[in-house]
Amino acid sequence: MALRNIRTGEEPCLRKICKEVPEMTDRTKQLIGDLLDTMYEAQGVGLAAPQVGILKRIAVVDIGEGPIVMINPVVVETAESQTGMEGCLSIPGKQGQVTRPAYAKVSCLNEDMEPVEIEGRDLLARAMLHEIDHLDGKLYLDIIEGPLEDVETEED
Ligand code: ZN
Repeated sequence: MALRNIRTGEEPCLRKICKEVPEMTDRTKQLIGDLLDTMYEAQGVGLAAPQVGILKRIAVVDIGEGPIVMINPVVVETAESQTGMEGCLSIPGKQGQVTRPAYAKVSCLNEDMEPVEIEGRDLLARAMLHEIDHLDGKLYLDIIEGPLEDVETEED
């Protein structure tokens, strides 16, 4: 378990197409653990491998209902739509309005390389779709509606 540096801004790793994961290795297990640790430390709801500079199709999500590990995820179904503010650990301190499906079904492998399907609504759908976009070099900035805003921080 270790924290990794989250890449920010226009670093090239955030704009690459990531490679499929063919098998589980000790290095990949370590990476998944590190992604979770780094996501929790940064108080995010999701983190994708390219955000720590690793161009593999792996992302983790936790919207407060426990960790979800997605390896080689594919979006197999979407429905309806939701519009709301979205942020990204690679674009710190900013947020913007993004419209995405309100429901998504994702087919992927879990950390044991077993095929699983994950259904998500609302925030979970948004988080999964946001993270899967990262694996194809896409950022929410590409689909933002309106201005990029500063996140208002609470001050005591
Ligand atoms: Zn992001």
